[in-house]
Amino acid sequence: MIARVSLEIALRREFDYAIPPELAGKVDVGSRVQVPFGPRKVLGVVTAVAAESSLANLKPILKIIGAQTLVTAKVLKLARWIADYYCCAPEIALKSVLPEAVRKEDAGWQERLFVRVLPASGEFPKLPKRQQEVWNLVEEHRGMLLSELVELAETTAATVRKLEDKGLVSITNEISERDPYAKETILASQPIVLNPAQAKALEKIKAAMDQPGAEGGMRNAELKPPDNTGHSALRIPNPVFLLHGVTGSGKTEVYLQAIAHALEQGKGAIVLVPEISLTPQTVERFKARFSSGKLQTLVAVLHSHLSAGERHDEWHKIRQSRARIVIGARSAIFAPVEPLGLIIVDEEHEHTYKQEESPRYHARDVAVMRGQMEGAVVVLGSATPSLESFYNCHKEKFTLLELPERVDDQKMPRVRVVDMRQAAYKEKGPPIFTPQLKEAITQRLEKKEQTILFLNRRGYSSSLVCEKCGHVCECPNCSLALTYHRPEQLLRCHICGWNEQVPKVCPNEKCKNPGIRYSGLGTQKVEDVLGKLFPHARVKRMDADVMRKKEDYRRVLDAFKHGEIDILIGTQMIAKGLHFPNVTLVGIIYADMALHQPDFRAGERTFQLLTQVAGRAGRGDIEGEVFVQAFTPFHPAIQYARRHDFNGFFEQELEFRKQLNYPPFSRVALLTLKGRSEDKVKFSAEHLKRELDKLKIELKDLIISGPAAAPLARAESFYRYQIMLRTRAMSRLSQALAKITETISFPDDVTLAVDIDPVNLS
Ligand code: ADP
Ligand code: ZN
Repeated sequence: MIARVSLEIALRREFDYAIPPELAGKVDVGSRVQVPFGPRKVLGVVTAVAAESSLANLKPILKIIGAQTLVTAKVLKLARWIADYYCCAPEIALKSVLPEAVRKEDAGWQERLFVRVLPASGEFPKLPKRQQEVWNLVEEHRGMLLSELVELAETTAATVRKLEDKGLVSITNEISERDPYAKETILASQPIVLNPAQAKALEKIKAAMDQPGAEGGMRNAELKPPDNTGHSALRIPNPVFLLHGVTGSGKTEVYLQAIAHALEQGKGAIVLVPEISLTPQTVERFKARFSSGKLQTLVAVLHSHLSAGERHDEWHKIRQSRARIVIGARSAIFAPVEPLGLIIVDEEHEHTYKQEESPRYHARDVAVMRGQMEGAVVVLGSATPSLESFYNCHKEKFTLLELPERVDDQKMPRVRVVDMRQAAYKEKGPPIFTPQLKEAITQRLEKKEQTILFLNRRGYSSSLVCEKCGHVCECPNCSLALTYHRPEQLLRCHICGWNEQVPKVCPNEKCKNPGIRYSGLGTQKVEDVLGKLFPHARVKRMDADVMRKKEDYRRVLDAFKHGEIDILIGTQMIAKGLHFPNVTLVGIIYADMALHQPDFRAGERTFQLLTQVAGRAGRGDIEGEVFVQAFTPFHPAIQYARRHDFNGFFEQELEFRKQLNYPPFSRVALLTLKGRSEDKVKFSAEHLKRELDKLKIELKDLIISGPAAAPLARAESFYRYQIMLRTRAMSRLSQALAKITETISFPDDVTLAVDIDPVNLS
């Protein structure tokens, strides 16, 4: 027998190895193995097992790592699809489906020796005083770690062993699991009686899960990667759903009851949430429902803040089917749940589902693919679905489920758009707070209600400009203005972290004008000005500069919850998921800040952000109010968000995308070349463009834009050029790109990154 192995060192190919007699029957698809490679020993994953190889004189596998195969054959297939579709080497895709903590050779359970009292048979022997004392201690504790006992009793392991010899205690090797939520007590919760809209949604999801097609997954022959527009992976009539419901409409309750159905069927579930909303409260809701009763199961949690040990343990809990439910961020989509009945992607429009390094996969799209491969039902949920997903409902690729109202019958907040141009004209310059917003804040302070103020830029001032010569202080490594941070008196780059002292005069040698001024606005300045306007208000700021640790975040939110803060200022960190009944006012300082970016999704992002932020107001008994300050108050993204009109926004945005042939009417591949010499980067980009032009013969609808300097033309001292490709036949383009990237040669210091379905165009 031989095994085909994908090695961890990136080589873009697989190698055959002989399975030696002592490992016969133990090597399986997904096994982690150590193999010889030249003079080295390297790690790899078995991707196939066969009777023989076309090659002779195969070297043998040296050893198997771990008792159990770590990747299931199904997840392995998913990794292969990722490599093909996202145009990356198979070993890179494989690495991302297996967390580092699980891959490492020495990763293992934390094993400890545990001492327990054994039931005495017959007469209790007379013990020496020391031994009797030790025994008493163990008995008192019912059982304890050997190391603890030795320390507490000031004894030695040898003494405890003597008790073991006499049959009075047992010493066993037991696994002590590292549970990141060990300190929390969880109260069991019961299913809630659903309202009619929820019940209808749940019925449809359950019906799909009951379909015979959902059993056993798809046959190989039917597996086709997406090659059309949207999620065209869904050509098989396998239902995948889009649950569109405003925040507070009871989506999570529908998820919980759908998961219960999966468990009843003897299957497991994966729940993806954006990293930022993976709060203890979210996790607790899932744990609480399944902590007791006949559907009792562990809930494994996977996210980037776990220690390697915790990650290892969570992962094995899943592999051993002790945890049937997995809740986690992006990479939890690879969790080895088997059999898998249901995948939920909450806040499916979130761009954090896209991995910004190779493999550049989109977890939502991978979820759809995995569901299809394994016959699992996929539910995407959002208050503001992505255009792509909503369009898929129009094309009947997804089934749309709608929860149009909040469960508690609360009204949507009233949104008022304030024209900043008028305010700027009256006040001779744009104010931070228009009179309308100021008045609204004053009222809230008087009524002891709370306010949230939102601005999506941290720092004090967004740039430092010379009034005389127009010189702007830029980062020496990036093509970006430096942001002024007042507490440290520094200018900082938000891309590479560069910082420098604030100059006293204009740095332009020919100018040296002392009249340099700060312009633009960040959260620090909002805090500062607010303090002057309302000296008695209790104000807190929440952004990446002040929230360094998870505890900081929790502490401020707790204080806010307990009414110890009147006004909370923040960046996108406060846009989502927060539920505070006493917040009746939300002020959006500059609503159009994200609108004027060179990205076809700028309108969509602004609409989503405004809708999310506005959703923070009026979660209690009092109706909420939202003030949106904007320089372009009549922009559709702002106007449709004002009316909470998703369908209206969708219609007009779709028209815009259609005219310009952007997704969902095509798929995009973004090629970025980077290097320290601008000439070399530019030359390489032109060379690549000529190669790409040849593809037009086969791919008739291919549109090539560029090469051009990227919107972020220089980052961390690398020049960046981009070529954007658009086509409906993305998997054919991916294949062609894989060939080109393998054969084309660039100067040594120029690198090419391929991003399929990019979400970040800068
Ligand atoms: P979403 O996920 O859409 O934001 P949730 O599922 O979190 O909504 O529901 C918001 C609140 O309403 C939660 O506290 C939840 O327990 C409660 N809830 C959900 N469904 C119902 C229902 N049918 N009847 C009463 N309360 C409900
Ligand atoms: Zn920089």
